Amino acid sequence: MTLLGLLVYLLPLRLEASLSSDWDTRAGLWAGLSSCGRLLFSRQQYHLRRLLTKILKKQVLSPGIKRFELDAAEIARKALPGQFVVLRVNEEGERIPLTVADTIPDRGILVIVFQEAGKSTRLLGSLCEGDTILDLIGPLGRPSHIEKFGTVVCIGGGVGTPEIFPVARALKQAGNKVISIIGFRNKDLILMADEMESVSDELIVATDDGSNGTKGFVTDMLKQVIDRGEKVDHIFAVGPVIMMKMVSKTSEPYKIPTVVSLNPIMLDATGMCGVCRVEVGGETKLACVDGPEFDGHKVDFDLLMARLRTYLPEEKQSLELFEAAQKIGGCCGGKGACHA
Ligand code: FAD
Ligand code: MG
Repeated sequence: MTLLGLLVYLLPLRLEASLSSDWDTRAGLWAGLSSCGRLLFSRQQYHLRRLLTKILKKQVLSPGIKRFELDAAEIARKALPGQFVVLRVNEEGERIPLTVADTIPDRGILVIVFQEAGKSTRLLGSLCEGDTILDLIGPLGRPSHIEKFGTVVCIGGGVGTPEIFPVARALKQAGNKVISIIGFRNKDLILMADEMESVSDELIVATDDGSNGTKGFVTDMLKQVIDRGEKVDHIFAVGPVIMMKMVSKTSEPYKIPTVVSLNPIMLDATGMCGVCRVEVGGETKLACVDGPEFDGHKVDFDLLMARLRTYLPEEKQSLELFEAAQKIGGCCGGKGACHA
């Protein structure tokens, strides 16, 4: 994509962000401007797909969690573990950041797995095989740092499991001993256990209610692994913010480097708007270009959780309007009934 094209795409986003009430601190402004400079002078190539992107395959992995295979060859060829894409379903659609859950480069397939959290992900989930998504940009963000650490624990919570999967696979391929811990509220919500097992030396499944696997939280399992004398050299964790906070708190006394993948509210995802700013080690960072992975021992998780709640009333209202429209048959990607 040309520099001019990138600017044409980003300018409205920058204005949108400036006008929003979220644009309220000098730290955010500075972070946005400095990363904008870095972006313009960097050699990174973004694939902005203005072409419609086709959904080749759709699966329901567990209630409210869907897996799409997308026809997106350029992104599939380039994406690395830990990176993400941003998509918009239609012209009025919000931008939805989603982690690259997998790629099948030789078939040009990009895999996303998402939880229907609100209006935009519900709309996305209502699309059917053969439907198209208006635009898709990626791969974005810094890839995970993969090397031979020794023994690595990979932790996925809920929909964080598909997100940690490519990271665990890359760590295994790099020669690490991979111990994976995946946690869910109950057995009906378990997903990708077979895939995680295939890239792990050991897989521990935890459910909050004990309906499958071991009863307890992923942090209990992590503590058990450390306390049984396993020399853990590195931890990667993806999941709800509270889970990543507790994992980081658990590993801190043992001084085990812990990487978490942050999911703040994100708008342009290229470093221009500053909406996804997070605080790491007392510094303002932008999750989109500096992350999304950060040192869990330095992240201000409480600030992140507070900022994720900023627009709750608007999100609730938007979902209610969407559900009302669905009842009168106005949704499903505009194509009538859809089975899943
Ligand atoms: P809403 O009702 O609008 O919001 C529900 C909650 O989601 C909000 O309270 C807020 O906390 C959060 N949210 C809302 N808008 C955004 C936004 N633009 N960006 C981030 N969070 C938002 N989810 C997945 O299920 N699978 C993934 O692989 C995945 N990867 C992500 C990677 C990154 C880098 C980021 C930043 C987020 C990722 N998310 C992922 C979260 C996903 O983007 C949000 O759940 C989604 O945007 C919510 O939109 P909504 O309109 O459906 O829900
Ligand atoms: Mg939304």
